[in-house]
Amino acid sequence: MSLIWHPLFVVTLTDPVEANDPTVGARRPSKRRRSPLKVVNQIPKRRRKEIEDSGQEETSSPEKWSRRAGQGKHIIERRGVKPGEVRTIPFNLIDSEIGESWSVPITVVHGVRPGPTVTLLGAVHGNELVGPQALTFLQSNQILGEGKAIDVNSMSGTLRIVPIVNLPGYRNSTRYTPDGRDLNRFFPGKPEGNTTQRIAHRIWNKIIKTTDYVIDLHSAASGRTNLPHIRANLAHPKSGMLARSFGTEVLLDGLGPRGSLRRISNEFEIGCVTFEGGGANSIDSDAVQIATYGILNALRSLRMIPGYPSSPRFRLLASGSVWIRSDHGGLLDVLAPVGSLIESDEVVATVTDPEHARESVEIRSPSRGLLIGMATHPFVTAGTPIGHLLPLKRGLSTIRSRLDEDDVLMLSGILEDPIWREDETEDIDLQPSDESSQAGWASVDDSALEEEDD
Ligand SMILES: [Zn+2]
Repeated sequence: MSLIWHPLFVVTLTDPVEANDPTVGARRPSKRRRSPLKVVNQIPKRRRKEIEDSGQEETSSPEKWSRRAGQGKHIIERRGVKPGEVRTIPFNLIDSEIGESWSVPITVVHGVRPGPTVTLLGAVHGNELVGPQALTFLQSNQILGEGKAIDVNSMSGTLRIVPIVNLPGYRNSTRYTPDGRDLNRFFPGKPEGNTTQRIAHRIWNKIIKTTDYVIDLHSAASGRTNLPHIRANLAHPKSGMLARSFGTEVLLDGLGPRGSLRRISNEFEIGCVTFEGGGANSIDSDAVQIATYGILNALRSLRMIPGYPSSPRFRLLASGSVWIRSDHGGLLDVLAPVGSLIESDEVVATVTDPEHARESVEIRSPSRGLLIGMATHPFVTAGTPIGHLLPLKRGLSTIRSRLDEDDVLMLSGILEDPIWREDETEDIDLQPSDESSQAGWASVDDSALEEEDD
């Protein structure tokens, strides 16, 4: 664990529902520079063109964000928030006269100057706690240094912060909405559909539709943990820009599952990325830190708050990944932690069965790659996915230069804040360079991710 940023060293209790005035200590890491590295660009031609074209579309800001336009009231749920005001507004997930309506607090931070509206979401899956924790810290009065909160008087644009979207799920420690469905498969929802469709519809219509950018914070599903990374459609102009600005080493390119917030947002020209880090029902402090600083990076890139965004030392751009599954049931002993660079045929875990105590089975990696997800629950059956692997054929020397003594990737978001400039960042494309295999890039459907999407 990092010693640099440590709200979790002292025992602090935060409540995302009452996130407005936490006194959580967050210290900005000191600066450290490294020598620049030559930029190589190995993205397949066709996809590179799509991504480059998308970047050009985003070079100018809309007229509505110019200073001349002035800043008016921000309206949400028929309530107005004045420029320079921070206000928490209750938002009912369900529109119902009697019975439970699940009132979720939305904190609106309305800058004094015009700019984009950015919505930050935690716990769309109720038991994924990294998002609620990160969004609570983001509102702390220490986030930008001693006594420094995000300053609404130097801010352009508007933040809508929803630390807990799926409040009933959060209260019951479950991923799902009260009717047992996955909210992130039902956008844009239906006003007269089932409970989850109604919740999705209200969130979509009242919060998302009127937003320019969405950052949706997630963790691995129960029983696994994820290396902090971003999932986004990199060819979607606003999403690709947002994904790169966040500062994580790993970017998974894809449309997102059907009905997911990011997929539907892109169809409506809203920039949307999903952050993945840590696991459900637990708080991974590194993931919380990377999420928090990733949001600050994004806000700086959008010129909403002052300061320069930091970039990672390299970026792995990937559209495909491989699940390593156990072929046997029993109890898992994980040998390679998440973030490990593993070789082909390396043993990543063993499975033993107390009922067959003298036998043990090794689980080997099908190829060389980076482990971006790993099981944390020891109980497995045949077919259980235990590791999520990003196969690597390129950029090995760069990646190896960023490994610790255990061959685990040192993430730039938890180091002593190496503020790389964007032109020092090496983009490593993980797709094969021959034309025949490039087709996958244009038709990425997260098929590899969808089955086990987090
Ligand atoms: Zn999730």
